[in-house]
Amino acid sequence: MTRPLTRREILGAGAAAGAALALPSGVTAAGRKARRQRRVDVVIVGAGLAGLAAARELTRAGHEVCVLEARDRVGGRTLNHHVSKGVITEAGGEYIGPTQTHIARLARQEGVKTFKTYNAGSDLLFARGQLSRYPATGLPPDPDVQQAVIAAVTQLDSMATKVPLEAPWKAKRAAEWDAMTLQDWATANVTTDLGRKSLVAATNAIWGADPGELSLLYVLAYIAGSGDEKNRGSFARLVTTQGGAQESRFVGGSQLVSERVARKLHSRVVLRSPVRAIHQDGHGLTVTSDRLVVHAKQAIVAIPPVLLEHIHFSPAMPRMRRNLTRRIVPGHLIKWEAIYDRPFWRDAGLSGQVISDTGPVRSTFDNSPPSGAPGIMFGFIGGADAAAVAKMTESQRRDLVLAQFATWFGDAARTTIGAFEMDWTDEAWTRGCPVGHTGPGVLRRYGPALRERFRRIHWAGTEVATFWNGYMDGAVRSGETAAKQAHKALKH
Ligand SMILES: Cc1cc2nc3c(=O)[nH]c(=O)nc-3n(C[C@H](O)[C@H](O)[C@H](O)COP(=O)(O)OP(=O)(O)OC[C@H]3O[C@@H](n4cnc5c(N)ncnc54)[C@H](O)[C@@H]3O)c2cc1C
Repeated sequence: MTRPLTRREILGAGAAAGAALALPSGVTAAGRKARRQRRVDVVIVGAGLAGLAAARELTRAGHEVCVLEARDRVGGRTLNHHVSKGVITEAGGEYIGPTQTHIARLARQEGVKTFKTYNAGSDLLFARGQLSRYPATGLPPDPDVQQAVIAAVTQLDSMATKVPLEAPWKAKRAAEWDAMTLQDWATANVTTDLGRKSLVAATNAIWGADPGELSLLYVLAYIAGSGDEKNRGSFARLVTTQGGAQESRFVGGSQLVSERVARKLHSRVVLRSPVRAIHQDGHGLTVTSDRLVVHAKQAIVAIPPVLLEHIHFSPAMPRMRRNLTRRIVPGHLIKWEAIYDRPFWRDAGLSGQVISDTGPVRSTFDNSPPSGAPGIMFGFIGGADAAAVAKMTESQRRDLVLAQFATWFGDAARTTIGAFEMDWTDEAWTRGCPVGHTGPGVLRRYGPALRERFRRIHWAGTEVATFWNGYMDGAVRSGETAAKQAHKALKH
């Protein structure tokens, strides 16, 4: 690759490559021979990690399932981008870390190995126009940034312990915290402008949103969920590489996990089958997709909440659930990735991780494959920055990002052998990423509808997870939980 790819090429290549891998022969054959009607125990909408984890569990329990997927590939918000022969990198979710035990187990059982994210040498802080280096395992050297990090880690973590994971709206101070944004909290508790800007870098990468868009109660629930049954959640675990959510990656890319699960499910997964309508009555459900009508006793709906509005439910979803769904807003996060013949920043003792007080890119990672070649550097562009650059031309975005990379890593950063970007808000079957978040007032008012089953419909998807909501782990957990619920309902 000697020139930047156009967005059309990028998406086309990604989809084609994804489809090639995601269409094991069983699935392809099933698609071709698709009967117009199918009768199963449980119909599952969406073949992301949540839907596939649910299908896997139910199949193991001996139930007949059918997974209807709108795209021509599985994996949803995980997508392997094929850089060159045998080299992939991820355009969507990719990292896994301690306490993310469900995605880890699923990957292990499917034979997908992990490797450590490159985290050697020094990180960079770019603040007030100056670069400073600090050990990749340490804190940024600036006292203003340190104050913000310490305030977040101590105060937010402690407040998060007061938030019941299953029902954040029941926290004693839920009314107060859900009336505020994270920005309101930062204004009162983070003493400097630079400190507050460092929080923007974190929230852009975590939610694809700015602190002013996030309910404080929502953020506290998210922090509380960044752990497991034995380990309390912590802000530090969300933002760190070693010991945190960015610690490891999957050999062969995260989408491989979904592809392996789908392969075993064979013709139970039907691609290119967007679900348009779900009807339920006393006898069961009828789910109508573009290629198939499925009759089932139970259903698991595992799609991003923002897309539920495009499905016709009869009877209509309960008002609380409709109101909630409408208010779970997907973030805006662009991954902009530059490809080099080698990860040259490593020669200078740099890890490739930067935190910047100015956008559009406010954090970066070394995204090179385990072999270290080619060198891949990606920048996160999120929140208002993402909205601003989305209006630019592709070459304007490229110039802006490479200018930032060159400031941080030197002029060699301008000599790319390729580049690609992925803006998930353009994706009809996602509409934003990495996760849907809520602004002030939503959780308290409508939160109780989040996990409440709707007659024969059980909800899954990372947005309904308790632990690791927003992450691949949350997606898998939510699918497994929904499978248990459907299994139980089938027995009654
Ligand atoms: C840029 C980016 C970076 C991220 N980084 C990380 C990370 O480092 N680590 C991490 O753990 N997580 C990360 N995430 C989040 C992670 O990818 C998601 O939490 C997870 O993949 C969500 O899985 P899901 O099954 O809940 O939803 P999805 O993956 O969205 O799956 C839903 C599926 O439903 C399908 N669908 C939608 N509507 C319909 C319909 N009407 N009919 C049929 N099918 C339909 C979709 O096509 C999709 O396949 C990131 C995400 C993105 C995009």
